[in-house]
Amino acid sequence: MSFTTLGLSEPLLRAIAEQGYNEPTPIQKQAIPVILNKQDVLAGAQTGTGKTAGFTLPLLQNLSDNTQPKGSRHVRALILTPTRELAAQVGESVKTYGKYLPLTSAIIFGGVSINPQIATLRRGVDILIATPGRLLDHVGQKTLDLSHVECLILDEADRMLDMGFIHDIKKVLALLPKKRQSLLFSATFSNEIKAMADNLLNAPVLIEVARRNTSSEQVTQIVHPVDRERKRELLSSLIKKGDWKQVLVFTRTKHGANRLTEQLGKDGITAAAIHGNKSQTARTNALANFKQGTVRVLVATDIAARGIDIDQLPHVVNFELPNVPEDYVHRIGRTGRAGNFGEAMSLVCVDEFELLRNIEKLIKRPIEKVVIKEFTPDPSIKAEPIQQKSRGRSGNNGGGHSGSGERSKPRTSSSERGRTHSKSTQSQASRRRG
Ligand code: AMP
Repeated sequence: MSFTTLGLSEPLLRAIAEQGYNEPTPIQKQAIPVILNKQDVLAGAQTGTGKTAGFTLPLLQNLSDNTQPKGSRHVRALILTPTRELAAQVGESVKTYGKYLPLTSAIIFGGVSINPQIATLRRGVDILIATPGRLLDHVGQKTLDLSHVECLILDEADRMLDMGFIHDIKKVLALLPKKRQSLLFSATFSNEIKAMADNLLNAPVLIEVARRNTSSEQVTQIVHPVDRERKRELLSSLIKKGDWKQVLVFTRTKHGANRLTEQLGKDGITAAAIHGNKSQTARTNALANFKQGTVRVLVATDIAARGIDIDQLPHVVNFELPNVPEDYVHRIGRTGRAGNFGEAMSLVCVDEFELLRNIEKLIKRPIEKVVIKEFTPDPSIKAEPIQQKSRGRSGNNGGGHSGSGERSKPRTSSSERGRTHSKSTQSQASRRRG
């Protein structure tokens, strides 16, 4: 099947051809005709499946089929994303695929000055890609009118809920016209997501590509058992021996990400950290350097990494296993994307065996264990409770990021995210917004 048979118009086909895509991915095959038909969609798809083009292409076509009267420039499509990085990437896709269409778009997220965004909105945009917090800031300042939105897209809805955006999303929904198309994309389907879908979608077409909560078949997964204190040494050795040029490494905490970045630097391996305490500029630079290859290792926490789109990322390393098994699936989804093969390695110490068991239960298969001889674990080392806190920091984890798209819920634990589905999101949301 080619893109032509999906009913896409010539300007879109031209842009797709320029990207070098020969064939639609499974999510694209299923979603494009349904969205072109103006139906609501509930889609289960991870990053890496081609979901962004899956909703962007038909959206662009629907909007261009029916352009606005001259002079009026209302926001006609709203795409909400959990993080700034994802907003930036989706915005990039909208520009790329829409380059031969006379539609305008803007990306809006926190952590940067609001004034240029106001100026852009004033000029008028057809498609707005935004994180919920900053979007509501604009609504509050009356610099944004959402009453003409024809299509709403929630991208990575599960992550938005995890990050405590539910009340922000509800506020946004109240501002949209009742009659509209709504598309909800989520990698996982919790009861919360299902409830949200029931509320939001009208007779949705259900599309699910990769089986729910299973990890990508394109990714080779390996566990290297290793002692807690020797992980860094093992990582450096793997990178050097394998001559890895581009590796994404996950840590549990921001502090852990910083520390590892420093240590790798001392081992002569260029590395940069990307997490919620870094400024937007620092994050953008780190990602750009990583993509260009001037930085070999990008050390990221789960929230920061969400939405990072790097073509053909060959190696993902779990320096520490995530507390939440679903995050493992998200993490390894960074490699083996859109038909490429990838390798995901987890450095697992005695403290993490329980986490590993939970992950294997979720993906419904054991992960191959490979002991590297020089790093054979010392059986006399006893398990210790997992460090949940980012050491060396105190108090509010989300501090310093007012209005940002990536705001962690303030918790008693300052780990980047423990994802306990707290019932007190209302007060959290108001604290965050305050
Ligand atoms: P996404 O799941 O939207 O994050 O997309 C993952 C990656 O797949 C992106 O880098 C896209 O550029 C790429 N991609 C999307 N559609 C296709 C396609 N039909 N063929 C090849 N690559 C694609």
